Amino acid sequence: METHTNQHEAEHEYRYVLELYREDGEQIGQAIIDADWEPAIEWTRFERLRHHDPQTNGAHPGAVIRPVWHTDVGEPYLHGFSVTLPETGQTGTTAQFPIHYFARAAQFASSKLVEMGKLADGELFRYLAMAFRCQNANETSKNRFAAEDRSAATAVLTTQAHIDELRQASDHRGSPHSGDMPVLVPQSILDEVSTLTNETSDREVGGILIGHLCRNTEESQLFAVVTELIQARHTVSESTRLTFTSDTWTDVRAAVDLRKRNELILGWYHSHPIAQWRQSTESDEGEQHKTLDFFSEYDRALHRTVFAPAYCIALVASHLGENKLSHALYGWRHGLIQARGYHVPPEDLDTQWIEDVPHEGG
Ligand SMILES: [Zn+2]
Repeated sequence: METHTNQHEAEHEYRYVLELYREDGEQIGQAIIDADWEPAIEWTRFERLRHHDPQTNGAHPGAVIRPVWHTDVGEPYLHGFSVTLPETGQTGTTAQFPIHYFARAAQFASSKLVEMGKLADGELFRYLAMAFRCQNANETSKNRFAAEDRSAATAVLTTQAHIDELRQASDHRGSPHSGDMPVLVPQSILDEVSTLTNETSDREVGGILIGHLCRNTEESQLFAVVTELIQARHTVSESTRLTFTSDTWTDVRAAVDLRKRNELILGWYHSHPIAQWRQSTESDEGEQHKTLDFFSEYDRALHRTVFAPAYCIALVASHLGENKLSHALYGWRHGLIQARGYHVPPEDLDTQWIEDVPHEGG
């Protein structure tokens, strides 16, 4: 995966703390939030790319993370937090994040309280998030961390195609969300995923989705088009989990080079052999298949590590039995991985417009 490693410092002037309550309002504990801030910073970068002139996407100082105080009760209680990417000579880009961003940290804190016997296993709890200014410079610097800049700006295609027209002609699938970047997934790719999933219904299979980020010259809106699926030959495939190896990436790079279309790695797909899991008792991911389409903890960890750019998507095909399949798409939204919608363009769509068109930024 191509990553540019310009290290930028992210700045924290605050320490973030969770306060956990029982359903009846009794306070049961506090925990310092050790959040993974990078998806929020990456989302802010992506927002800048989506809505601003990509030419300004040059060097910039580190991200600044600030509390957004609760409107009723105020400091130290949080409504959420904001990430600002300052821009030389400009106001910069700011994105806001809800306290739901700390849901995993709250889950972790609650499991500690269960261990301590302060909360029953499975008992409902509520949480509030707070922020306190760091006491001394030392503490502030401990909270500084490097934010890696994975800029995709130079890879955006300039196109004559209008996303609104493409969208109108398309079939809509999945769970739509108004703020999401539109993603086009051709039927041929869904069919290929279906075939691979049906052929190997006893274990997980997967691969890489490549394609383009596009922008019409007259519109500001960015959208993604999946152009090809590269089956990962070298994955370590077990019944319940899939691992991409370094050979997988060598294969993907070779395929992208051979195609000479400057495609980006847009994400990945993998199968959930649910029918198989229902027959066997031992399964990691199988545990979670009570709901049909899901993205497991393991899937999330893999997506966070390997598909960290905010435009990256994950297609999951669930095998429910003989030729019975369900597709779901997941992607980043405000720094969290969520189910999302996608568009299946008509099969006769002229795709000339994604060939031989110039990239933004040269
Ligand atoms: Zn999975």
